Amino acid sequence: MRRIARKTVEASTPRRSPAPARVPARWSLDDCTRREPVVDAILGRVVRYVGWRKCMRCGHPFWSEDVQRLRLCTGQPDRRGCRNRQDEGF
Ligand SMILES: [Zn+2]
Repeated sequence: MRRIARKTVEASTPRRSPAPARVPARWSLDDCTRREPVVDAILGRVVRYVGWRKCMRCGHPFWSEDVQRLRLCTGQPDRRGCRNRQDEGF
């Protein structure tokens, strides 16, 4: 019962930060080196970086909403991601 409830919460809250932020639009897959800052709209400072990166586990490129914290690929339409609930946030 608790597991199902948790999954529902995760699905409905894709963003961690409650503060409004200027998020760069996703660009097409590159060599996984480009990083763009996400700037807090109120404080005007960089809160995280987004970009393509290679999964630490399988090496598959994926779009990371926070390249410093999200290092495992997420599920995509054509494949299952390496990230699971235990890895969340790492
Ligand atoms: Zn992976």
